Amino acid sequence: MARINQNYKSLQAGYLFPEIARRTREFTERNPGVELIRLGIGDTTLPLTDSVIKELHNTVDRMADANTYSGYGMEQGNLDLRQALVKHYKKYGVYLEPDEIFISDGAKPDSANIQSIFAPDSVIAVQDPVYPVYVDSAVIGGKTKGFVDGRYKGIVYMDCTEENGFFPDVPKEKVDLIYLCSPNNPTGTVATHDQLKKFVDYAHDNNAVIIFDSAYASFISDETLPRSIFEIEGAEEHAIEINSFSKLAGFTGVRLGWTIVPHKLQVEGTAPGEVQALWNRRQTTMFNGASNIVQPAGVAVLSAQGQKESQKLIDYYMENAEIIRKGLNDIGIKTFGGVNAPYIWAKALKGYDSWEFFDKLMSEAHVVCTPGSGFGNGGEGYFRLSAFGERENIKSAVKSIKENLKI
Ligand SMILES: *Cc1c(COP(=O)(O)O)cnc(C)c1O
Repeated sequence: MARINQNYKSLQAGYLFPEIARRTREFTERNPGVELIRLGIGDTTLPLTDSVIKELHNTVDRMADANTYSGYGMEQGNLDLRQALVKHYKKYGVYLEPDEIFISDGAKPDSANIQSIFAPDSVIAVQDPVYPVYVDSAVIGGKTKGFVDGRYKGIVYMDCTEENGFFPDVPKEKVDLIYLCSPNNPTGTVATHDQLKKFVDYAHDNNAVIIFDSAYASFISDETLPRSIFEIEGAEEHAIEINSFSKLAGFTGVRLGWTIVPHKLQVEGTAPGEVQALWNRRQTTMFNGASNIVQPAGVAVLSAQGQKESQKLIDYYMENAEIIRKGLNDIGIKTFGGVNAPYIWAKALKGYDSWEFFDKLMSEAHVVCTPGSGFGNGGEGYFRLSAFGERENIKSAVKSIKENLKI
């Protein structure tokens, strides 16, 4: 008799975005004619750039011709694209081999899939607040035992607070896998070289692996901040990096990413190369490669011209971020992030929890945010605004907050 994976039943209901949708629907039903400005969801809005469009057209044309048509490619991804990434990382002083890079259909799936090559009873540590997929995939994998007071038992939560600049201390206990996201979603803050070094040292001392999600690396403008975990000495023995073209070049719908598993990475009982080979085994068994139509477009993104064009998109979003940050600061709302990341993490007004402030912002200013508590207990009392919007919407939202929010 077939039975379901009972671990799915341990997942808490997908509460955050459905609940936002429910509350906004209710509001618009009660207030017909009122236009809400949505600064909640972290999705790109600007169109693909010229180089990307041109390459996408080219690849489609090649697929239309029997002489240039291609079917299955390498599960690890086109060599061209991996070589372009090798070159891209050299700019940061990171030297990779093409076979340490695995092209994917995005960072989110790999951030979950990567757990499957480690022991099922691995102890996982996450930042709190946290990008939900790291936690939910651990629950589905049976790594947790119950949900108490807003936290899964069996997961080690590393508090990110105003006091520690929203970057946690290393765990006090021994853990096996550590998810770090920098620049961070949701807090918009970026880990420094020294902060990451502490985690690499911890991983070294405890035989742990850091799973580093750098999906927003391209938003870093401060040259002193690391864009890759592999800028940290010793990290190639203790870390995996996951990244994508989603936020870098507006590929959220196109779907293309990459994961780096260095040859030098080792865990308990493995020789160098074994973990890399295991991920290769996983991919060749369960993945048939990213779309051959979009991979050349990834090469185009990484070309000199493509980089210039993506930088324009990023600059646009970061100007939005500045408008939001300044606007909130002008009325005395404390903000974090939004300088090297497209998210502004802001403190709810005194006396309001995240959802109460969400309702207040919606009903008074007609602006939809994301309540911080939706990212974990550590987000309570905060809200997140996304800079991935159109300029006019951002300006209207800020104007409305300044004029209408009752402080
Ligand atoms: C948007 C985002 C990603 C990107 O996921 P894709 O699957 O590549 O679109 C990864 N990690 C974080 C934290 C994100 O916010």
